[in-house]
Amino acid sequence: MNTVIPVQPPVVLPVAGSDQVFPVRRVYCVGRNYAEHAIEMGFTGREDPFFFCKPADALMPVADGQVGVMPYPPKTSNLHYEAELVVVLGKGGRNLSPEQAAECVWGYAIGLDMTRRDLQGEAKKQGRPWEVGKAFDFSGPIGPVHPRSLVGTLERGAISLHVNGEKKQSSDLAQMIWNVPESIAYLSGLFELQAGDIIFTGTPEGVGAVVPGDTMTCSIQSLGHLTVKVGNPL
Ligand code: MN
Repeated sequence: MNTVIPVQPPVVLPVAGSDQVFPVRRVYCVGRNYAEHAIEMGFTGREDPFFFCKPADALMPVADGQVGVMPYPPKTSNLHYEAELVVVLGKGGRNLSPEQAAECVWGYAIGLDMTRRDLQGEAKKQGRPWEVGKAFDFSGPIGPVHPRSLVGTLERGAISLHVNGEKKQSSDLAQMIWNVPESIAYLSGLFELQAGDIIFTGTPEGVGAVVPGDTMTCSIQSLGHLTVKVGNPL
């Protein structure tokens, strides 16, 4: 292909226990998918969840056993962590039933939906899109993909986040308002899903701010840990 500028390499995630990688197509995120988090954000916890996106190249893959370093992003003074289960799709489709959706899951990873909360809050107030709050560079630290064929189908299990060893978030995947098949099925009515699409499934309560020098450790039962340090501003 005779391109006029260089083609960017695909964004790939390491696969745990393997030298293979998972190529990413799109990154979808579910908003307010745990009732207690919706309540802490000022909602009732009874509204339906909803979706937004991050660009694939906003992901920051972290290999097994490594500590990722994300630079503190510009134009914010309120950078928040959101620990999330990420599901990665091995196939897709349109208008999937929850049963069909469940079969699309190739594997799981631990992710952080890092958020410039001050910019997101301003966007909400002004009725503007969320990209400046959610879709910035390095906004999606993510650990290796664990194949569903090895870890099984995750329907419950502890999810937690510690900052500098202090527990900040602690819940269970079973607390999601829309479970994984329901989220995928709903999303497939809005977009045609394809192999390579990944979905951040929402965060439980306890979100808060981090500053340069802080270390976040996110854990999900069966998936191990994702450790990310907040670096200095770029
Ligand atoms: Mn989130």
